[in-house]
Amino acid sequence: MKRIVVVKLAPSPGQYAALKATLDLCNAGANMVARFAHSATDRRPFALQKQVYGHLKASGLSAQPAIRVIKKVADAYATRQANLTNGNYGPPGSKRYVAVTGKAIRFRQDAGQPFDDRCLSWQIDQSTVSIWTTAGRLRGIGFVCAPWQLKQLADRKGESDLILRNGQFYLHATVDTDTPPPLIPADDPTGWLGVDLGIVNLAVTTADDPADLDARWSGGAVTARRKRHQALRSALQRVGTKSAKRKLKARRRKETRYATDINHQLSKTVVAQAQRTGQGVAIEDLSGIRDRVRLAKDQRQQLHSWAFAQLRDQITYKAQAAGLPVQVINPCNTSRTCHRCGYFDPANRPSQALFRCRDCGWTGHADHNAAINIAALGHHSYRAAQSTAPKAATPLTAS
Ligand SMILES: [Zn+2]
Repeated sequence: MKRIVVVKLAPSPGQYAALKATLDLCNAGANMVARFAHSATDRRPFALQKQVYGHLKASGLSAQPAIRVIKKVADAYATRQANLTNGNYGPPGSKRYVAVTGKAIRFRQDAGQPFDDRCLSWQIDQSTVSIWTTAGRLRGIGFVCAPWQLKQLADRKGESDLILRNGQFYLHATVDTDTPPPLIPADDPTGWLGVDLGIVNLAVTTADDPADLDARWSGGAVTARRKRHQALRSALQRVGTKSAKRKLKARRRKETRYATDINHQLSKTVVAQAQRTGQGVAIEDLSGIRDRVRLAKDQRQQLHSWAFAQLRDQITYKAQAAGLPVQVINPCNTSRTCHRCGYFDPANRPSQALFRCRDCGWTGHADHNAAINIAALGHHSYRAAQSTAPKAATPLTAS
């Protein structure tokens, strides 16, 4: 089983500056290679390498980092090609398709950079790494992670990505391991914090007090605000002048910032709950969120426009950074199955907020019931991942 171990680096100010300069140079190089690849017919790493390797070396990259940069660009183009082929940017000739293929791929100045074993070595016993930078090889950069992560790093293989996020450097190491983190007692179903995502309540967890949900998690204010934005957007779209278009763009950016901000607050609270209770985080994959609820058209619009993928990614990322295991589960039926007796019936949910089991009679908050089911699925899929563990019988299916 492959997983990513995230460790936070603790560089000195001098080391920090060298890491930053290295990342900048790698991404400047990547943009140069991407511009070249844009007009190239053969974008495979070896073909690109013949053309750009000399330029990269001249810019100050040494041999291995230069090759990693070329590979990164080739991978980005391969991913883009797969997306184009799968129609993710619309049919050939469509506006989006043309916009995507019309320009070279751009890498942000702080985009992540893969380092292989020749450029990055781990001294796990000392909790340090040694890494190639433009200022030479830096030795003894400390890193911070949870004790179980330290054990997993022993199984680390291949490349690690250097990531700069919110001014902090992280390494994302790939480990191949059969042993999941021994943080959760295997038979303790309370060992997982279940997170249910939705529109009316953006996120409800098993640690929330069901009586207090509306005060803390309500998406009502968010929904009202989005409705206002929607009306404004439609009005601006109808006007269609240059200045209306400019305003539309500004408004869109403002909405994105707002969603990101809300998502940060939500993800922070969820992960703090998990930390406080010493639980792993069980969260649904996103396929379910669209299929699960039958929605009126305007609600569907809201669902698509809310950044659920971002919310889930933030929860996952922050949980992992806090050393907590994360299980992503298929949420199919979690909202219509009674967590107490396992009885499944769409009629169990007479209204959006209310759950009333037609079999055992348990009555409570529908999202809270779903969160408990998600926690149980997290537990089951975690157990299933342990090769020795027998698969527990459950009316729900873990993905
Ligand atoms: Zn029941």
